[in-house]
This record gives sequence, C-alpha cells and structure tokens, in this order.
Amino acid sequence: MIRAGRYEIHSAITGWDRLDGGAMFGVVPKVLWQKTEDTDDDNRILMALRSLVAIDPEEKRVVVIDTGAGSKWDDQEAARFAITYDSGAIPRVLAPYGLTMEDVTDVIITHTHFDHAGGMTDWAGKQDGPTSLVFPNASHWVHESHWSHALRPTDRDRASFLMRDLELLNDSDRLVRLTGDEPESTIPGIRWRLSHGHTPYQLLPWFEDDDSPLLFVGDMIPTSTHLPPAWVMAYDLYPLKTLDERKALYSSAASINLRIAFPHDRFHGAGRLDVSGKRVQIAEGLLPSPGA
Ligand SMILES: [Zn+2]
Repeated sequence: MIRAGRYEIHSAITGWDRLDGGAMFGVVPKVLWQKTEDTDDDNRILMALRSLVAIDPEEKRVVVIDTGAGSKWDDQEAARFAITYDSGAIPRVLAPYGLTMEDVTDVIITHTHFDHAGGMTDWAGKQDGPTSLVFPNASHWVHESHWSHALRPTDRDRASFLMRDLELLNDSDRLVRLTGDEPESTIPGIRWRLSHGHTPYQLLPWFEDDDSPLLFVGDMIPTSTHLPPAWVMAYDLYPLKTLDERKALYSSAASINLRIAFPHDRFHGAGRLDVSGKRVQIAEGLLPSPGA
C-alpha cells in the first residue's frame, strides 16, 4: 500500500493476457525489447491487467481505476490473448477494510479497450446474454469524446472495443460522461489529466499529494519498459502525440517528485520517476506484485 493525499492505494492484478511483442513496441526492434520481455511461441509477451484501488477510509470513498479484461470470454477468444481472470483480486483488497464490491463508489475508466473496460460487467446469467454491473453502486467516469469514439471506432482500432462491454452502461445513469478539454473533478483529491496519443480522450486520474503526487498513466505508458519516449505501441492511433505527452510529463516530474501507476507492468503497480539521467527510469518500484 502507498498513500497519496487522503487515499490508501493498492494495485490489484485482475488477470493476465499476452499480446504480440512487436505490436507492443512499435518500431523498436525485438533485439532491444527482448532484453526485458520474454516471448512465448507465438511471439507474445505477458501483460498484467491491473486495477488501481484507492480507498479513503474516513469518507468511505472507494475508487477503482480500470477493470481489466473481465470474464466475458469464450474459450477460443481467451486462448487468442491467453486471458486469465481473477475475480477475487479486488475483493481481497477491499476485505481488510470491511468493504465489498457493492461499496465501490467510483469506477474510473481511462479508456474502453477491452483489457481496461471488460471487468466493468459480467454475464448476468448465461454466456452472450444480458450483462450486469460488477460494481453496481458506483458512478462510472469516462470522457464523453472517448465514449463516442468507442461506439464508432476506426477500422484500425475496431478490434480493441467490444460492444458487450459498453452496451449496459451506455443506457445507464451510472455512466458519468465528462466533457471538454479541462473537465473538473468532483472526486475529492483527484484531478483529471487527458491523453490523446493512444486513443482519443484517455482519462487519467491525478492524485493530489503535497510531497509526491501520483498519476495513473493508463496506456500512455503501459509498463515500465515503455518509459523511453519513443518506445510507443503500434496500437497507438497517434504515436507522435504519445511521444510528446510523455516528454511533457517527464519535464515536470522531478520538481514535483512524481509517482506514476501502470496498468500493465508485471512487477510493480507504480514507481517513482527518475528523469535525471539520459534514460528515464523508475528510481523506486512501488506496489510490488506478490512473488515479483
Ligand atoms: Zn489501450
């Protein structure tokens, strides 16, 4: 656990998947990225599917950021991405506080790619039937411009969105759609930062902290291996924008002692940034995975 402002923060691994290593590193040659990433026989690398869980015990505010790929997969689909799902990961974080999934007040969806938004819902009964909310009492925060993109994606990113993840919330008053380029936050201690390189209007929560704020970076920087500005995924719609967004983030990181939290790092849920050398790196790994 780490603290940021009023929140006690945990990183829960809700599952794992495997994605093509070449796609994960764009124009970076394998001889470079294979120094840190192991591939399977299909050239896929292992990715953690992380939710950040932020709890304000005083106010009973429980914020879950991203939800992993969830459970709505048939065997053939799951095999394509080697998807596994651990339905107990978030409940195990909540239990010591006497909290359950029903007590989650806010779900922040950085973006609605299936490996971030799939865990918002589950099958209500049988496979391919209606879905139900995994966090039934939570407000689900998303940016309106991202949501409308997800409903009408381009041919290039269509495969990343599954309508079965979105339909229920689209018709629900549990979905809160933020608008504009500087949306205000009504969640105490959290501000919004937007990112557009990976997908339009990614919604990144910034936890205020006088000594060391914390930013959940979403797929702007999926793992610590992606810290170098040019190590951009081939999945990104606007790779040069991702590159600029990372540089802008790093330029202010030292003066505010910035920590960042990752959605897909295998070993750590977060880290303190070191931007002093030639190569941006994690000076201190935080929220280690059990056994990492
Ligand atoms: Zn993504």
